[in-house]
Amino acid sequence: RIAYVNGQYVQHSEAAVHIEDRGYQFADGVYEVCEVWNNQIVDMPRHLDRLGRSLSELSIDWPMSRPAVEFVLRQVVRRNKVRNGLVYIQVTRGVSKRDHFFPPANVAPSIVVTARSSSPAAVNAQAEAGISVFSYPENRWPRVDIKTVALLPNVLAKQSAKERGGKEAWYVDADGNVTEGGSTNAWIVTKDGKLITRPAESGILRGITRTAILDLVEREGLSFEERPFSLEEAYDAKEAFVTAATNIAMPVVRIDDKVIGNGHPGSVATRLRELFHTATDLKVV
Ligand code: PLP
Repeated sequence: RIAYVNGQYVQHSEAAVHIEDRGYQFADGVYEVCEVWNNQIVDMPRHLDRLGRSLSELSIDWPMSRPAVEFVLRQVVRRNKVRNGLVYIQVTRGVSKRDHFFPPANVAPSIVVTARSSSPAAVNAQAEAGISVFSYPENRWPRVDIKTVALLPNVLAKQSAKERGGKEAWYVDADGNVTEGGSTNAWIVTKDGKLITRPAESGILRGITRTAILDLVEREGLSFEERPFSLEEAYDAKEAFVTAATNIAMPVVRIDDKVIGNGHPGSVATRLRELFHTATDLKVV
């Protein structure tokens, strides 16, 4: 496997960043994960728009021009012969003597890009069974709109779900509303068939898959509403699912000790999943 690290393509097994990288010391960095499907990077322009926003919110410079970043993403996909899988990009504030203050202006951001194949069959099998999720108290900072590598709360929430037999954690805020998953956005379908997902203005990361699914929902003329929903409402929903670049639309069949709907993946989630790759803004690698 090949990785890209600060200007060089290197063996993945030997790829390394400096011990004084601010990503390592302060989680002072941001990232994106894009799906690779049929040799194409799905929704790359939207992912790079969001990367630019995350960088700008933290006053980190682009590590190189946006077209150069696009080129490297495609190269890493190509050099790893990834047909279906994921490509990961991480940008940090760079390497500098440990100090909370931003480093001097001459310190360049660090960039790392990796890619790996995944098995669509394995993800599809999981989608056919559906996943269990477990609720978890919202304990993250308010700037979850920035896709930072500071993911310790997400790590702990997801691990807790895993130890109870689940695949995802759903954060529940002080008002009793579901915000989002540890690495996914959360959706329900009400008993009268309306899709509900929380508005992206607060409490969640604006998922690229979420946006693409909303486009699809509109194209298909499905009934939907962007509004907060409570954990209680989710327990009582006809369907639930999560969205992310890593799993498109993944049906949820259990939340905590409650079976959702009839305990099988719902028809809306299943249909959105099937239609997804016909609707996204694909870019040829
Ligand atoms: N919410 C969180 C906290 C995430 O970490 C992610 C993806 O990693 C998402 C939502 C889904 O975002 P996307 O659809 O862009 O993958």
